Amino acid sequence: MWSYQHKAFTVYQIPALADNYLYLIEAGDALACVDPAEAAPIIKACDELNRPLTHILNTHHHWDHTGGNLELKERFNCTIIGAAHDAARIPGIDQKIGEGDVLKLDQVNVTVLDIPGHTSGHIAYVLKDDAGDALFCGDTLFGAGCGRLFEGTPEQMWHSLKKLMQLDERSRFYCAHEYTLNNLEFCFNKVSQSSDIKKYIDWSFTRIKDGKPTIPGTLKREIRCNPMLLPANGEFRRDYAASHEIADDAVSVFTHIREARNNW
Ligand SMILES: [Zn+2]
Repeated sequence: MWSYQHKAFTVYQIPALADNYLYLIEAGDALACVDPAEAAPIIKACDELNRPLTHILNTHHHWDHTGGNLELKERFNCTIIGAAHDAARIPGIDQKIGEGDVLKLDQVNVTVLDIPGHTSGHIAYVLKDDAGDALFCGDTLFGAGCGRLFEGTPEQMWHSLKKLMQLDERSRFYCAHEYTLNNLEFCFNKVSQSSDIKKYIDWSFTRIKDGKPTIPGTLKREIRCNPMLLPANGEFRRDYAASHEIADDAVSVFTHIREARNNW
C-alpha cells in the first residue's frame, strides 16, 4: 500500500488482481474506497488504518471495479455511490449521481463528471485541494493511454478526455490500472518519439523495476505525452494526419490512434 498526502486528505493505493489499483481516501471522519475490485484487500487496509469504511465511490459498472461492493457494504454498512445513468448495473447502489453533482467527504468537496466512452455510464470524481486536485478517472484516462471503447463512440470518448484536459494541470490522476509501460511502448513505436515521451519511458521503467507504481501521475505530463490526448495539439494533429493520410480534425486523429492501439 502506498500513500499520497494532499492538503485536506490522504490517498492510499492498493494493488489488486493482476494490474488493478484500488484506492482509499481518508478525509476527516470519512474513509472512502474507489472501485473495490474485491473486498479482501480493502478490509485488510481498513484494519491497518484501524477505521471503518464509510463510502464506496464507483466509476463504472465493470466487475473489476464493483466486485467488492456487496461484501464491503455487508461488513461496514457503507454508502455506495455511482452513476445515475448506470444505477441498474452498480451492485448495492445507494446514491445516484451525475455531471456537476458535488459530494462531501467530511470537509472535502468532490465534483462529479460524466465521462462516457469506455462504458456508457462512466463517471469521474475530482477532489478539490489547495495543493493540487485529485482525479479518480477509473478506466477512462490511463498513464499514456485511455480505456477501450466498449460502449461508447470515439466522439464521446474524445469529448470525455477533453473534459479531463480542462482540469487544473497540476491535478494528480488516480486511474484503475497499471498499463503505463505498455502504452508508452505503443506510443513510441506508432505515434511519437518526442523527448518528453523518452523521459516518461525512462522514468516509468525505473519505477516498475523498483517495484513502484507509475500512478498517480500529473495531468500536465499526460497532456504533453499521452498519445490519446495529443490530438488536442494542432501541430501534432496536422503532422499525424498528413503522414497517415486521414482528416486532420481531433476526432479523426484520436479514432485512428485508438484503433492502432486496439491492434497493437
Ligand atoms: Zn472498465
